[in-house]
Amino acid sequence: MAQKGVQVIAVEAESLAAEAGIEPGDVILEINGEPVLDQLNYQFLVSQKDETLVRWRKPDGREELAELENCGDGIGVDLAADEVKVCKMNCVFCFVHQMPKGFRKSLYLKDEDIRLSFLYGHFSTLSSSNEAELDRIIRERLSPIHVSVHATDPEVRVKLTGNPREGHILRKIDHLLAGGIDVHTQVVLTPGLNDDWVWEKTLAELWERRAFQTTGPRAGQGGVLSLSCVPVGLTAHREGLPDIPEMTGEFAQAWVKRWMPEVRKYTAANDGEPWFLLADEWFTRARVDVPGRTFYSRSWAQLENGVGLLRRFLDHAKRFMKTPRAQAFQGRKALLLTGASFAPILNQTLMELNRMTGSQLRAVAVPNLAFGESVTVAGLLCGRDLLQSAHADRLEHGGRPDWVDAVVVPSATLRTHTGPSDQYTLHGVEAKAEGTFLDDLTLADLHRDLGRPVVPGGANLAQLLDHLEAAERAAGLKGDLRAIFHASGLNQPQGAYNP
Ligand code: SF4
Repeated sequence: MAQKGVQVIAVEAESLAAEAGIEPGDVILEINGEPVLDQLNYQFLVSQKDETLVRWRKPDGREELAELENCGDGIGVDLAADEVKVCKMNCVFCFVHQMPKGFRKSLYLKDEDIRLSFLYGHFSTLSSSNEAELDRIIRERLSPIHVSVHATDPEVRVKLTGNPREGHILRKIDHLLAGGIDVHTQVVLTPGLNDDWVWEKTLAELWERRAFQTTGPRAGQGGVLSLSCVPVGLTAHREGLPDIPEMTGEFAQAWVKRWMPEVRKYTAANDGEPWFLLADEWFTRARVDVPGRTFYSRSWAQLENGVGLLRRFLDHAKRFMKTPRAQAFQGRKALLLTGASFAPILNQTLMELNRMTGSQLRAVAVPNLAFGESVTVAGLLCGRDLLQSAHADRLEHGGRPDWVDAVVVPSATLRTHTGPSDQYTLHGVEAKAEGTFLDDLTLADLHRDLGRPVVPGGANLAQLLDHLEAAERAAGLKGDLRAIFHASGLNQPQGAYNP
């Protein structure tokens, strides 16, 4: 069988690859006698020696070989994006199964890829990773990775994930730890399924494996760096799916009350570094204040998992409001659309900002009509939801076409890529342009419909101000907003307002 290899899509001028005759369209098959599996593997292999022996195939099938003196650096090629792997699970709480119909194809794909876990902090159940792949992680030192554990009890994990072969997650984790790989972990807490004794067992068994143990049988191995507990999210679209009790505000309150003191105990036992973490959504559902900075790991280890976003936003806002730059908000009048869970917190901050600077900013909670009103996070709002709320707000405020200077949407609603990144693609799915919402409406569509600049909020008040100013420049220049945001790098989804 012909070796697969990785296709070259561009070659740097005057690079080692160009001198050797490697061209776009060629396929790199081997480096130093080893098959090239993907981009990460290529980077690992070229970094191993000062001289790199490359074997590649031309489009006509001819194979060529050259030794390049690259001193451990790349050889000057861009490689085609890797295809993302798909999970082998059937989790009872899988969000993909609870998606309404009619969205673009890529949103229904259950991607799960350990390479993305290493590169971008995506969580993986390890269902698509066999022993050979775990060994590859160890060899290439892809550490730390992020693992969805859900339950360490094998029977319960099978029940939760619907895969009878994936009960023994601790075996896979132990394999990685023994090879020196560190692991961040998460549990999606589902009332009645993995709370109670299942949760306590999971917590205890992962704690036994915590990192940096200097004595005992695990000394010197990799370790579990953190464990986050995230409340299950259910949409209004669970027809034909197993019955799961709702995550109520009362459950969240009881959970926070029961486990907050434990979080502090674990932190103390872990030399002051927070290890057991509760996701922001526990606090918004329980309607209690998010805890202070010391509750979160020093590196904000699970920020992308919704752990600490609110605290980071609030702390930044407090600092920012003390700076002269904050006064540039003066006189600005904008409507900030966001999810129901974040709106009260954001409004409190905006009131303070308005008081200090004379701005007129306010946040409105947008009901999620596509997924159901039980979904309150900002990141899952669709373009139509945002439009509807903006129109309702305009009517409420007299119906004038210039009722605000700008409408701000959560950056997290603009997940523009086909797959999770430029380096990885989901098979057979067309890329979407930047500034596209989940339902394929775009920033430009909202702008046209509302007749007001529509800008992504960013991750904090400083970014919000940058975006509002960029929108003004665009209006003055009669430029394309998207082009300006793109050029300034401001249009990237940044987890803004997305608890
Ligand atoms: S691993 Fe993730 S994508 Fe796969 S079924 Fe479970 S929740 Fe869904």
